[in-house]
Amino acid sequence: ELMLKVENLHVNVEDKEILKGVNLEVKPGEFHVIMGPNGSGKSTLALTISGHPKYEVRNGRILFEGEDITELGPDERAKRGILLAFQVPPEVEGVRIIDFLQQVLVELKGLDPVEAYDLIVEKAKELWFKEEDLHRYVNVGFSGGERKRLELLQAVLIEPKLLILDEPDSGVDVDSLSVISRKIEELHERGTAILLITHYGRILEHIDKNRITAHVMKDGRIVRTGGGELVDRIDREGFAGIFEEVGA
Ligand code: ADP
Ligand code: MG
Ligand code: MG
Repeated sequence: ELMLKVENLHVNVEDKEILKGVNLEVKPGEFHVIMGPNGSGKSTLALTISGHPKYEVRNGRILFEGEDITELGPDERAKRGILLAFQVPPEVEGVRIIDFLQQVLVELKGLDPVEAYDLIVEKAKELWFKEEDLHRYVNVGFSGGERKRLELLQAVLIEPKLLILDEPDSGVDVDSLSVISRKIEELHERGTAILLITHYGRILEHIDKNRITAHVMKDGRIVRTGGGELVDRIDREGFAGIFEEVGA
């Protein structure tokens, strides 16, 4: 019944302890939000779940559909249905978007390249990319909004079991924010479980707040878990009151 189970996760980056015992459970199709001040470990958690080699698990484990994936590489996790949309999507000089996405669809979804091409062009339009845009190099010279829309395009094409979104709303203009928010809701409606890292409730405008589980991180730990009302409260008041309540 559980999809993702993060157990007592301790993670070091360059010999510094960043995550200090994170516990998190996500069931299939659930919508989880993670909020927390800068430096609290949100991106570290996202990157560790997706298998980034820089993040060293010192204690605890990560289970996905009952399997211990703690030692698996990022490609193996992707094959099992985990996708991370980066906070800062990197430029990949020399790799064209269309070639990259085609390869992903052939490898992960078993499509043939022509089928994949047509699907990419169709879905790209819904995220405001023209066919000619797809022949540009991945993120090279892209604005913040374009980068985040490209991350969403990948997600829409792959339809992962678990989509981790690291601040899809940062550095994005209001129009892009709106289309990104709608696409996240669409993926959720189609059954993808969502783990969304954000600083603002605004990205959740298209999501039913009653369906949300919200977590607050501080200094490498989840210190509070609640419903959608937690997001509204943080929007209004910030974190101070919550941290005081939990003695963090
Ligand atoms: P958040 O996403 O909540 O802002 P991060 O997970 O990015 O937090 O960072 C948590 C802490 O880990 C910060 O103190 C940050 O400086 C440190 N950190 C994160 N990634 C690295 C890295 N690659 N190298 C060194 N320190 C890092
Ligand atoms: Mg940050
Ligand atoms: Mg971050």
